[in-house]
Amino acid sequence: MVHPKEEKTLVLIKPDGVQRSLIGEIIRRYERSGLKLAGMKMTVPTSELVEKHYLVDPEWRVKTGQKTIESYRKKGKTPPSEDPLKVTEVILNNLKNYMVKGPVIAMVWQGMHAVGVVRKITGGTEPLTSDVGTIRGDLTIDSYEVSDIDGRAVRNLIHASGSADDAEKEIALWFGPGELIKYNLAGEAILYDVNLDGILE
Ligand code: ATP
Ligand code: MG
Repeated sequence: MVHPKEEKTLVLIKPDGVQRSLIGEIIRRYERSGLKLAGMKMTVPTSELVEKHYLVDPEWRVKTGQKTIESYRKKGKTPPSEDPLKVTEVILNNLKNYMVKGPVIAMVWQGMHAVGVVRKITGGTEPLTSDVGTIRGDLTIDSYEVSDIDGRAVRNLIHASGSADDAEKEIALWFGPGELIKYNLAGEAILYDVNLDGILE
């Protein structure tokens, strides 16, 4: 296991985020947390890359299908299928159609609890119900209700890794060796130094 201070996470600004001119605003929110940007690129992903990306977690198909079926039931609606894998197949196809439509920004953020910090700043998956103060809650307005009617993926601006394990696999898909930079950030002395020596003259 990597030390929590070294943890890395993958963030993608999805095509809607780039088109809404939110690149700077989104980076600002992660940057001021204290996390360090370890790598960044702009690219138009292929459908193959998007599929590999969502399938790095072998449980993702089942979990996403189950979660979706449950959320239909909670709203008193009938899910499109009782089979979680069939439900996820539709979601995955919609995601592939969405993610390849324009440039995305791929970034690796590194630092203490990077995965958890980034998910907190990003907010819940569905913008309509994401908390105020989060990127998805503040900067966009989509819902599952409307994305279902339109037969498309929910436009939620960001992907953020779900666990340190997923992050490692996802980063290997989006970045080649040598594309991540190891460096010290001055602010890390305040975040991580045990004694805070060296401030006073
Ligand atoms: P991401 O992985 O994109 O950061 P997330 O971790 O918040 O989002 P996941 O559960 O991993 O959410 O789902 C990945 C993507 O699948 C979401 O961004 C969304 O587009 C789509 N998705 C997830 N659940 C649903 C659902 N119930 N209905 C429609 N689309 C969904
Ligand atoms: Mg996820």
